[in-house]
Amino acid sequence: MPVVTDRGLRPPDRTSSTPAADEGGGHAPAPPPHAVLQRQRLRESSARTYARSFPIVPVRASGMTITGADGTTYLDCLAGAGSLALGHNHPVVVEAIRQVLDSQAPLHALDLATPVKDTFVETLFALLPDDLARHGRIHFCGPTGADAVEAALKLTRTATGRHGVLAFTGAYHGMTAGALSVTGNVAVRTPVAPAPTDVTRLPYPYSYRCPFGIGGSEGAATGAKYIASLLDDPSGGVLPPAAMIVEPVQGEGGVIPAPDEWLREMRAITADRQIPLIVDEVQTGVARTGAFWAIEHAGITPDVLVLSKAVGGGLPLAVIVYDSRLDGWQVGAHTGTFRGNQLAMATGAATLRYAAEHDLAQHARVVGQRLRAELNRLAADRPSVGEVRGRGFMLGIEVVDRDAAPDALDSRPPAPELAARIRAEAFRRGLIVELGGREDSVVRLLPPLVISEAEADSVIERLAAAWTAAERNPTAA
Ligand code: PMP
Repeated sequence: MPVVTDRGLRPPDRTSSTPAADEGGGHAPAPPPHAVLQRQRLRESSARTYARSFPIVPVRASGMTITGADGTTYLDCLAGAGSLALGHNHPVVVEAIRQVLDSQAPLHALDLATPVKDTFVETLFALLPDDLARHGRIHFCGPTGADAVEAALKLTRTATGRHGVLAFTGAYHGMTAGALSVTGNVAVRTPVAPAPTDVTRLPYPYSYRCPFGIGGSEGAATGAKYIASLLDDPSGGVLPPAAMIVEPVQGEGGVIPAPDEWLREMRAITADRQIPLIVDEVQTGVARTGAFWAIEHAGITPDVLVLSKAVGGGLPLAVIVYDSRLDGWQVGAHTGTFRGNQLAMATGAATLRYAAEHDLAQHARVVGQRLRAELNRLAADRPSVGEVRGRGFMLGIEVVDRDAAPDALDSRPPAPELAARIRAEAFRRGLIVELGGREDSVVRLLPPLVISEAEADSVIERLAAAWTAAERNPTAA
């Protein structure tokens, strides 16, 4: 069991008279936060997202806390969209950066071999499931999850000579054209995604809103049966696909864990039909779900594993690791300038090592379970909670319309406005939580893996208070 220190949380403090930005390193005083926010509104694109929900100007951060230029401190349950596995400015991450800087190594080295890269690859491979480590090849991508998804699609298309892809309802794989074509959210795909003729959309096992009206393991099994029969039906309309792409827990899709048995079924269905299986662990990887890799819960080995976010220790890095039999790429088949970020490789290796040595997967399991129990308690007297679900430190609470009649599966329609109010009220109470899922009505908790039990209690306290306030105050969002 890792020793995770309590970082001495303080409640939101708006009384600080010294702007935090003035304290650091003898730089010129920072401009007042309201001016920075105002300039952002004027200069940056209308596509900006988090900045709208969380109008702060962060100037300091440590562990799970983030401090704005006005001195207000927040508990960060978003953690760089899951990329800050060890929280903000963890000493081993900071030290890894220092070591690279002190060594005068090049900071950027394209795809050349370097000692820093060699260490990253060796560290990663030592932690991968045996099968993948033994037969695996790694490709460094442009440093985003989306680019790694593009690479995975390209790799499997090249290897199979086929084009179609099997993807799931609720999936999120990124915002570039190929990644967007396998993403499920219609609102973000319209009107820019390519026509989805080469993507066959399959039902993900979402028990609370089971498309078959069954739910539970039986609903998931029915979905798997449907998928197998669709692929085998000579008149089913699906050309032999290049790949199936799946998330073991859908994150942006509303924190929906796939049952282990269902994931094993997907492995069997694809293996039996020579369809490469791509598992997107961009969000679930590196101890997040209570296993080092989420595929370990089901005990499956994919043909391609997609990794980003935590694997870079908070700096931009993305890779795919795949069965060497798929390695039919031509030289330069998936290239890009920024594939050699030495700082990210160093922080990635340090994060992987720390997470393994301190068994953060176990910490995510234990404290994650406790958080879930607390969320269930929070749900008990709140009919606007549809479902509490998740795995490890990926937790979600589906917000529903408590006044609507439940359907046959006892689920109610989503309540996106209430969800937005809860996020806003949480922010007012010094807690950063994001939304996801259908109509953005799932409150998601994605804390850093080093969250202490005291911090977890604080998260619950603030969320419960926010929920109560949001239900009372229909205009707060
Ligand atoms: N796949 C999954 C499962 C993700 O959660 C995300 C990002 N939330 C992506 C891919 C895309 O990653 P990026 O935003 O770095 O492109």
